[in-house]
Amino acid sequence: ALPTIYAITPTYSRPVQKAELTRLANTFRQVARLHWILVEDAAARSELVSRFVAGAGLPCTHLHVPTPRRYKRPGLPRATEQRNAGLPGVLFFADDDNTYSLELFQEMRTTRKVSVWPVGLVGGRRYERPVVENGKVVGWYTGWRADRPFAIDMAGFAVSLQVILSHPKAVFKRRGSQPGMQESDFLKQITTVEELEPKANNCTKVLVWHTRTEKVNLANEPKYHLDTVSIEV
Ligand code: UDP
Ligand code: MN
Repeated sequence: ALPTIYAITPTYSRPVQKAELTRLANTFRQVARLHWILVEDAAARSELVSRFVAGAGLPCTHLHVPTPRRYKRPGLPRATEQRNAGLPGVLFFADDDNTYSLELFQEMRTTRKVSVWPVGLVGGRRYERPVVENGKVVGWYTGWRADRPFAIDMAGFAVSLQVILSHPKAVFKRRGSQPGMQESDFLKQITTVEELEPKANNCTKVLVWHTRTEKVNLANEPKYHLDTVSIEV
């Protein structure tokens, strides 16, 4: 079975949130076997995101694989294949404001341990990328803090679920993690540079962009509710 992609998206309430999530859902909806894990940065789940998720129309991860007839016998365990079908998986951290090509998901689907690829419009350059020689990552093309152990953006890597499960203590650290070092701090807990699997034609294609949404101008927004209707934006 095609490995499920688990896309983890942190998201927070702001004027552009619904627009960002709409654009993201429009991409994800076209990716097979993608399970979207949307994590709200809030004390409670908001009504806006709850409503959005309910109507997002993402193909729910409804897995199926037939049990071979020879295994349908009393006393034999049931649903083994169905449970196993959910096991292979690839995890990906998908910020809500980035732009994702569909080809990116084809590339990350075959992640065995940790895969990497270039990211466009990041680090003060048109792109950053892992430098690959003979199929191995040997360095980083980056304009920003080249000393980072993994000079890569959050959108530039995916991790197999097996690797996550075999490193149960791997987490994003709040304490002691400088801005921009999150990726390195996380990756060094679970892998090594030698182990990385280059994707996107040996890291020569940009399939994801670290786009950032312009801050919206709400200067003319009235202080008190003026309109006759209440509209979710
Ligand atoms: N985010 C969040 N809480 C915040 C700020 C950001 O959940 O207080 C989310 C945001 O929605 C996005 C991700 O974290 O999915 C990265 O944030 P942002 O795009 O602002 O970071 P940058 O692009 O500057 O690295
Ligand atoms: Mn961003």
